[in-house]
Amino acid sequence: MESIEILKSKPPPAGYKIEELPAGEISDQEETQDQIWVHCRSCLHKIALQSDKISILDAHSHIFENPAGIFYRVVCYRSAPGTINITDYTMENTWFPGCLWSITLCRSCSNHLGWHYISGSGDFFGLIADRLTLVFIH
Ligand SMILES: [Zn+2]
Repeated sequence: MESIEILKSKPPPAGYKIEELPAGEISDQEETQDQIWVHCRSCLHKIALQSDKISILDAHSHIFENPAGIFYRVVCYRSAPGTINITDYTMENTWFPGCLWSITLCRSCSNHLGWHYISGSGDFFGLIADRLTLVFIH
């Protein structure tokens, strides 16, 4: 299965890092406090609004281990317009009880950024913390 291959082939770097990157062509508009985006760490594409971070199972972020023994720190967002879901939804080895998942990639560079979850009560994204970065505009 292709989805399993993706999970195995990309071991995450350790730790959750927030990088300050120089401003430049990254933003062409004034961003307010409400519109701070997290960006794809690989290509700096806008992925999700910081204000869309949500608490799932009583926490914004979780550390999970996949069946291949790889650990991920996953941050939950209600929306992630910069991503695209690429697989059928499955309940197999789900980290969130009752939720089906699909693998979600960066819409710009196709880096694997996390998973989209759906359940009877709604949907959310679990994004891999160290594949995202904040970009500060000064
Ligand atoms: Zn990207």
